[in-house]
This record gives sequence, structure tokens and C-alpha cells, in this order.
Amino acid sequence: MSYSDTTEIKRKKIRSKVATSPSTQRITCPECTNNKEFLEVSDGVILTTRFIQNTDGSFSQELDDSQVLGQVKFYCGDCGADLTGFHKRFLEMLF
Ligand SMILES: [Zn+2]
Repeated sequence: MSYSDTTEIKRKKIRSKVATSPSTQRITCPECTNNKEFLEVSDGVILTTRFIQNTDGSFSQELDDSQVLGQVKFYCGDCGADLTGFHKRFLEMLF
């Protein structure tokens, strides 16, 4: 095998890796094959909203600060199967 043959193979390998990643790694529910709707459920969430009181006694909302204390679960939106194992993947694909 000549040098140029080797480089050609390497290039092909890289190209196929890039091309397959978005389409083949879709999350699909193993129970009902749903791949459209999913639920993210957060446990023990504290919602804190900061308000500033104005000179006339009215309030303005400054910022929202939510904190998730418990676990974040991930479910199939169709049959409710626990898909928390896919949650990391979900976060990576969240835009
Ligand atoms: Zn399902």
C-alpha cells in the first residue's frame, strides 16, 4: 500500500464519523419508539425572584434565579418511560 492510499482511508473515516452523528444518535424511546416528545422533570426546585422596590413603593423584577436541588429526570412524552439515561445526550443536543 502506498502512502497516498493510507491518507485516503484516514480521510474517509473522519468524514463518515461527522456525517453519521446527528441522524443516527436521535433519542428513541425503547418502550414505544416515540422520538418526538420528551419530558424533563426537575425535583426540588427553588424559584427565587429578586425585586427592587422603587421610590414610589412599586416593585420592579430584577432577575430570576432558579436552583434545582433534586434530580432532573427525563421521560418519554408518550408512554412515560424513564429515559433519564438519555438526559445527558438530550442536554448535548439542546440548542
Ligand atoms: Zn415511550
